[in-house]
Amino acid sequence: MAPGLSIGKGETSVEMVAPLAHSPAHSPLMEYAELGLAHERVAHVAQLRRSIDATKADEHAVHHDASHGPMDPRISKNSWQYQATRNVAAAAVLHDLKAEHLPSGGPRGVERKAIQEIARRHFEDTFYIVDLGNTTRLYKAWKAAMPAVKPYYAVKCNPEPGLLRLLMALGTGFDCASKGELRTMLKLGVHPSNIIFAHPCKRPSDILYAKEHGVEYTTFDTESELHKVAALNPGFKLVLRIRADDPGARVPLGIKYGADVGDAPKLLDVAHSLGLNVVGVSFHVGSACKDLATFTGAIESARLIFDQAEALGYNMELLDVGGGFTGHFDACGNVMFGEIANTINKAVARHFPPERGVRVIAEPGRYFAETSASLLTPIYGHRDRVEAATGVLKKDYWITDGLYGSFNCILYDGQNPQYQVVRTPLLPEPTSTTTYKSTLWGPTCDSADCVYKVYVFSDSAVDGAEDKADGSGAGGGAAKAMEVSEDEAHS
Ligand SMILES: *Cc1c(COP(=O)(O)O)cnc(C)c1O
Repeated sequence: MAPGLSIGKGETSVEMVAPLAHSPAHSPLMEYAELGLAHERVAHVAQLRRSIDATKADEHAVHHDASHGPMDPRISKNSWQYQATRNVAAAAVLHDLKAEHLPSGGPRGVERKAIQEIARRHFEDTFYIVDLGNTTRLYKAWKAAMPAVKPYYAVKCNPEPGLLRLLMALGTGFDCASKGELRTMLKLGVHPSNIIFAHPCKRPSDILYAKEHGVEYTTFDTESELHKVAALNPGFKLVLRIRADDPGARVPLGIKYGADVGDAPKLLDVAHSLGLNVVGVSFHVGSACKDLATFTGAIESARLIFDQAEALGYNMELLDVGGGFTGHFDACGNVMFGEIANTINKAVARHFPPERGVRVIAEPGRYFAETSASLLTPIYGHRDRVEAATGVLKKDYWITDGLYGSFNCILYDGQNPQYQVVRTPLLPEPTSTTTYKSTLWGPTCDSADCVYKVYVFSDSAVDGAEDKADGSGAGGGAAKAMEVSEDEAHS
């Protein structure tokens, strides 16, 4: 991947979306054109939240389901908020968040916005700029390409409240993996029927919490989970998660979750003998799935299990095709997941034709989060060192986020987040353009907390910092990491 700015862009291959299985009259390309202004941005500045904290989410809680009907008087059809979303509830969220319209400039506009915010708020800690315009485009592209598949956003991917509220207003459901995530979404006003508790191995207290709050759907993949459910909440609508790995995915999940298809009959029998209600099948092909045949194979396996369950008398009504989608844009501003969408549409049309009345959902996480959020993390310390053996001058920089925080994607996801240096306007112009071998360190005392070991880096981010009079310390630059998704799987 080339370094540099690449919000929602950066790759050049162009994919087209072929006509859809479920609504041949509908042209996704028209919809894309309608979105227009692919480079328009909507900036929402958010302090980083390191854990899912429901009381914080509470501060933002406005129950949009109720308050932003079609007649919301604050939102005129001429407002930029409405023009950008064509959705009254979503426009109201942009209004409430005081999101800013950046009418031109694309990624550069976001960078300028970041610089403005650094100057205005003197950020000492990591913050996000979330491009909610990007999120809106991704949602519309999804609807255009897979109208029959309702997305349930995987909250763990980035639980930033503005992002959650926008998705809620646009009409997604939510995949929650913990009690904390359930609480966050319920407090934001999401109806329990729009939530799936998509963790196949839940703590007893989490099961009780879901029951108390009317969250009906959950996944399972072991007998032990079935016994827990039978004891604590036999009313759950159970979705059997099967294993369907793409060995080429960036993050294969099958080693941990998903029952082997061969074990499904046994699990269904146990569920049946315990008097439990199995209603569907789910899978997750692994994040950033590359092999389209994985989806086809998994949907075919799901069909098989539907048949087995129906033979036991179950009324199977839900197919959940999981996550694994990436939300990158081509040079024309079109989302590049046409091929995956086509593959899923075809397999669903073949194995779950509409007359069977099966609801199809997905659990995209990165798809919405990855290209929508830019993380800015201030450089707050630096050091020069001469390498004894070579006499070469090397530099160390400390940033406010590391492997124990947002950059855990380097450890767990094998990611290599791109970044660039944004020079703070609080510093004078740089005097040097020399580059040095540099190391970027995270803030903890653990020497393993190293974000980049060797990076050739110009000193311009902090050059002149010592001359600064406002006493705000050595740093002043900020490394702007692109395409970081904050994974907090089990908080
Ligand atoms: C992480 C996760 C997702 C989201 O995965 P992406 O690859 O980011 O789309 C969806 N469902 C489950 C169960 C997950 O664990």
